[in-house]
Amino acid sequence: MSDNETDVLVVGSGIAGLASALAAAREGADVTVATKATRPEGASSWWAQGGIAIARDDPEQFKADILAASSDTADPEAVDVLVENANAAVEDVLLETLDVEFDTTGMGEDEFDFGREAAHSADRILHVDASTGKHVHVPFLNYLDDHDDVTIRDDTAALELIRHEGRVHGAILESDSDFEPTYAGAVVLATGGIGDLYPRTTNPAGSTGDGIAMAALAGADVTDMEYVQFHPTVCVANDSPFLVSEAVRGEGAVLRNGDGERFMPDYHEDAELAPRDVVARAVKTERDATGEVTLDVSPLDFAGEFPDLVEKCEDHGVDYEDGIPVAPAEHFLCGGVDVDEHGRASLGRLYAVGECARTGVHGANRLASTSLLEGLVWGLRAGADAAGKEIDVIEAPDLLERDPELPERFAEEKFHRLRRVMDEYVGLERDPDELGRAMSVLRRLKGEVDAYTRTRTSRSLYELRSASVTALLIARQAAENEESVGCHHLVETSADGGQAPEPRADD
Ligand SMILES: Cc1cc2nc3c(=O)[nH]c(=O)nc-3n(C[C@H](O)[C@H](O)[C@H](O)COP(=O)(O)OP(=O)(O)OC[C@H]3O[C@@H](n4cnc5c(N)ncnc54)[C@H](O)[C@@H]3O)c2cc1C
Repeated sequence: MSDNETDVLVVGSGIAGLASALAAAREGADVTVATKATRPEGASSWWAQGGIAIARDDPEQFKADILAASSDTADPEAVDVLVENANAAVEDVLLETLDVEFDTTGMGEDEFDFGREAAHSADRILHVDASTGKHVHVPFLNYLDDHDDVTIRDDTAALELIRHEGRVHGAILESDSDFEPTYAGAVVLATGGIGDLYPRTTNPAGSTGDGIAMAALAGADVTDMEYVQFHPTVCVANDSPFLVSEAVRGEGAVLRNGDGERFMPDYHEDAELAPRDVVARAVKTERDATGEVTLDVSPLDFAGEFPDLVEKCEDHGVDYEDGIPVAPAEHFLCGGVDVDEHGRASLGRLYAVGECARTGVHGANRLASTSLLEGLVWGLRAGADAAGKEIDVIEAPDLLERDPELPERFAEEKFHRLRRVMDEYVGLERDPDELGRAMSVLRRLKGEVDAYTRTRTSRSLYELRSASVTALLIARQAAENEESVGCHHLVETSADGGQAPEPRADD
């Protein structure tokens, strides 16, 4: 096999991509993992805090909780796949292969300290302190780094899929400003979330929806894009926001407005443990009305139970005893590339897994601590299915570097404009009229970006293209969905029917 051929090309090195690589390698495939990340922190998987839910001895109850959190919009068959495979996948990969040391109760060797988060009716979340992600992600990367059949190419971005007659044959990869096709029997997209489309996000930089955009441009189906989940409690004490896990509210922390009043009981009977979208909207409303919202951790032993969050507060200069200032931030995309129970997309030999995929498990809203699990379960299934397919070398699109210099601050300005539109019109609350206007702005912006991609190729330009394609998909699918459900919340705000101000190109 030549250097630019591989049996399975996995794009992305989060939990979903690594699980696919592991499963494909177990089937005897030669696997290449191409990832933009230069450090483990480049994947959301590293940042996961609360943990990974499993079914324990009651998959039916787990299923009921997932369906309830989604307002019965999740696909029951997809949820069956998740809950029925949860225990075995975690045991096989996380416990037996990677030896992840989840917290225990101290009562017995394997007595795990199962946690509970909002909308879970049972204690079923495995965790390591409140920084589960890195304790899973780092050993996973190390394990595959040592694997003979897996090559991990970091700082390597997939820019475009190679497609011919309804089938995907590989992707154009960029590394060190070189652009080369890599041909594969199958391509697994595992590119994570879309946080870079919003001004405030929990996702790492580079979350520009690349896999979704590449799939959509190649003609694959992409659905449920309007269901963008905002996390209600992201610490906003300074310019580098960080997430304060739901588990903190699970242990008794309460939200207070700028007047020091606890407000969540007025919004929902479950108060701070109401569904995420309800809490996020309440936090936004109270911030708008009273100037700030803080998370009061005095009802619990914060230092004893969340030592790593205490460390984070200290690093960010936050005195948690005065309450942690919080605001909602983009956190998770429930939709994405439409796939079946094996992660197969609507184009031949194309798979999508993890956050960039729409499996149907989350419907309109995601139950906490189910996305690491979804990435693991679908990653394993897709990787196994993707192995063993023939490689065809066909003519690849020509993406040679022609005129690399973009106008100064081009990408920065366009991103700024895109984020402002998404935040104002396609955020926590959406007005149907404003969605239409947001689409016109985004269409124009995408046109301007497309004009540059005809003559230039660079990673930052392609990230901008991905962001503009993905933003437009979100706005369009939000405009088409007239039902307020889960993360898609419609309101009527432009009562005078007037024009919502269009963001200026330079702001
Ligand atoms: C702060 C935080 C806390 C969270 N806590 C939890 C939790 O407790 N439990 C839970 O279940 N979920 C949690 N989530 C959600 C969960 O972590 C993510 O949904 C999940 O890890 C996504 O995994 P993934 O493999 O799909 O993507 P990621 O882990 O984001 O990995 C995506 C990878 O794709 C690469 N990539 C992107 N584009 C390209 C490209 N064009 N070419 C090459 N590589 C590319 C990126 O560099 C990265 O390596 C949390 C998320 C965040 C941000």
